[in-house]
Amino acid sequence: MSTVGETPSVLHPLVAKYLRKERMPHMACPGCGIGQVVHAVLLAVDELGLTPKDTVWVQGVGCNSRITYSTWVGDNVDAHHGRMFAVATGLKMARPDMNFICFTGDGDCGAIGGNHFIHACRRNLDVTAILFNNGIYGMTGGQVAPTSPVGAVTTTTPYGNIEDPFDMCQMAVTAGASYVARWRSTDFKPLVNSIKKGIQTKGLAFIEVLLQCPTNFGRYVLKTSNPQDVLKWIKDHTVTQKEAEKVSREELAGKYLIGEFVYRPERSGIVERYQEFLKLHQKE
Ligand code: SF4
Repeated sequence: MSTVGETPSVLHPLVAKYLRKERMPHMACPGCGIGQVVHAVLLAVDELGLTPKDTVWVQGVGCNSRITYSTWVGDNVDAHHGRMFAVATGLKMARPDMNFICFTGDGDCGAIGGNHFIHACRRNLDVTAILFNNGIYGMTGGQVAPTSPVGAVTTTTPYGNIEDPFDMCQMAVTAGASYVARWRSTDFKPLVNSIKKGIQTKGLAFIEVLLQCPTNFGRYVLKTSNPQDVLKWIKDHTVTQKEAEKVSREELAGKYLIGEFVYRPERSGIVERYQEFLKLHQKE
């Protein structure tokens, strides 16, 4: 038994193996989907046999990184807000032999770090980036995000959001990432497989997860604090690519497509091109 704030005496085997005990219990709100995504990452890491010697975690700023911050038993690098891709670029160029698993949120990646995100895709940086999309700024108290739906009432849009949300996956495909996919926090097995595929793909693997935030998205947008209501909203606003083939364009309006959008492992990226460049010019 342990009390709130104390390290639990019994840890999940994956947590005990890969995460720092002193960082447990994590700080996510009850019912939040972040834990499901971190669980999927740990399972993918375990199934691929990655170790702290060959893998580094990098994170930006937001609810997700508050949970993943300095948590991996190996090396962790914590970037400033929106700078996850910029920091990961430097790290990967210096250590192309290491795997980098990068965590970012929809505000971190789509707003403050939007430009870094686009250029990381264009360069096809060889890292695995997991986007935790809760549709709102969670850590700072429920402000509108570039992923908030039209009409969303938040602390900064009390009369409803008048902007269209950013489709981060479409942007990643267009800008040039090798692998792009989107899942819901409840698509556990496809998410684990997708993370494994992403880690094994050369070039940028960008995996977005739509997850439930009962504390802010639930409270302000849906007027509920029940995680199940938020999960139902996500279910009602998503459609798999297979399901999408059977419905009209009008019915798809305002819905997120779920599945894999692109897989082009043959596409080269900045890391291998830079290695070739160095070989050529160091000889000269
Ligand atoms: S504010 Fe939302 S996203 Fe952040 S930890 Fe709480 S439930 Fe999760």
